[in-house]
Amino acid sequence: MDKEQSVVGRFAPSPTGPLHLGSLVAAVGSWLFARSVGGRWLLRMDDLDIPRVVPAMADDILRTLETLGLQWDGPVVRQSQRTELYETACRELRRKGYIYPCGCSRSDLARSSSAPHPGEDGPAYPGSCREGLKEGRVERSLRVRVPHEEIVFTDAIMGEFRQSLLHACGDFVIRRKDGPFAYQLAVVVDDAAMGVNQVVRGADLLSSTPRQIHLQRLLGLPIPAYAHLPLVTAPDGSKLSKRDNAVSLVQGFDLATAGSRLIALSLEFLGQPAPADVVAAPCREILEWGREHFDPTRIPRQSRCLIP
Ligand code: GLU
Repeated sequence: MDKEQSVVGRFAPSPTGPLHLGSLVAAVGSWLFARSVGGRWLLRMDDLDIPRVVPAMADDILRTLETLGLQWDGPVVRQSQRTELYETACRELRRKGYIYPCGCSRSDLARSSSAPHPGEDGPAYPGSCREGLKEGRVERSLRVRVPHEEIVFTDAIMGEFRQSLLHACGDFVIRRKDGPFAYQLAVVVDDAAMGVNQVVRGADLLSSTPRQIHLQRLLGLPIPAYAHLPLVTAPDGSKLSKRDNAVSLVQGFDLATAGSRLIALSLEFLGQPAPADVVAAPCREILEWGREHFDPTRIPRQSRCLIP
């Protein structure tokens, strides 16, 4: 098979709100990385975090992507329907002694089923239950042991990244006793099962990547290539999070008239500005121009505002 044909990328939004500008850039960026080399581009709904998932939002996100000309390959994968796969991975980790029951009630338990964004990780888990549950404690979660050595990988945009998991997060939760599997486990299992070999997403997940590489190694899964895109900020430089929906497509834009502008702005944000005659074209044509001219070395590292 032609090497370039074998790239499999993906976009994995969490349907906790409508698509916003940050996730739009992640969609366009991952689409460009995959499509520019003739690769496949898959779509997965990261809908494990049931209390935060808004049922109608998955469809809304899909409609928005279609309207913007971002067409994915194959059926949409939904994490909420893949519990058995996570169960199997969890059993394997347990059998190999890589995970242990933990009786601590900590805030990282509550947050484990969605992707941690900067500042959400809290202090590293000190390993209180590493050597066994203390007297009278009940199991609240399963944690995976982290290694002493740093995890090092080279990101296609951000360059070399190294992290000591021991210091960054400590042994981390992969399943809550009373709740869903953790994002970190689900994303690793799904990317491997879907054949994803190129993960392109926002730089807010850069610091989750070493945890995912650790799990990939423990489970004997291939490690995808990673590219973390600069983040879209609010005009004053502050964080524009998916959760606050400060700027959302359905709330702030009429896609029929503003779609082309949004795609052109996303390309510009990613260092691939389209010429004036292309910017005026329908979304698909702008994307096609982007695909043909895509140069990943021009993607800037700095976070900034999307709308100049
Ligand atoms: N669903 C995650 C989020 O929206 C992204 C997961 C990923 O790209 O690995 O933050």
